[in-house]
Amino acid sequence: MKEIKCTIIQDLLPLYVDEVVSQDTKEMVDEHLQHCEKCQKEYDSMKQELYIPAENKISLFKDISKKWRKKKVIISITSVLLTAIISLAVFSYVFYHETVIPYSKDLFKIERQNNNQLVFHYFGESYAGVNETHPMSLEIDGEKRNVSFIFYTKTVAKSPSRNLFNNEKGLNEQEYTFNLIESEKIDAVYYVDFDVEKITAGKDSWDSILKRAVLIWEK
Ligand SMILES: [Zn+2]
Repeated sequence: MKEIKCTIIQDLLPLYVDEVVSQDTKEMVDEHLQHCEKCQKEYDSMKQELYIPAENKISLFKDISKKWRKKKVIISITSVLLTAIISLAVFSYVFYHETVIPYSKDLFKIERQNNNQLVFHYFGESYAGVNETHPMSLEIDGEKRNVSFIFYTKTVAKSPSRNLFNNEKGLNEQEYTFNLIESEKIDAVYYVDFDVEKITAGKDSWDSILKRAVLIWEK
């Protein structure tokens, strides 16, 4: 076989390294590499540079992208959770955070019906809840009286169910009646906000609540 030029072998080397040469070409290159040190070196370096490192690079890249993907998933889960928590907080605040409706003569009125039942009227736009106590015996001006405390709360948003309920009525006609149980026992009703937990914890007392309360009805 005549001597093949090194340049031709080196042109073929990339294909030879990738093992995409025909059997004849492969044998020819094999033959040449056995006695040509220069091409053998070229082949060795090509095998290392192109072949093995290429695989490493791919796996390294795969590793990075896998880690990055994991991180991205964690980041997006976190942001979704955060968004959900914030939305829930805002929602709760708007719909469930109750604040006390301050007493106003125009807003509240108590009437005693013929059957001795006390009826509480609320003329406001919307409320979230009613807090009231059973009558309790407290000393007022040296006299023991059965007192009941009451207050209304509202939320930032109008309570949807109340609005639904009152949609058909005009604003001025809106009236919430509330039956005070044990009406007969009650000597007086006071409007004041109170926190039963504070009283239980000893941080507040019914006597001090009475001092800041507004008398709205008495026998
Ligand atoms: Zn050669």
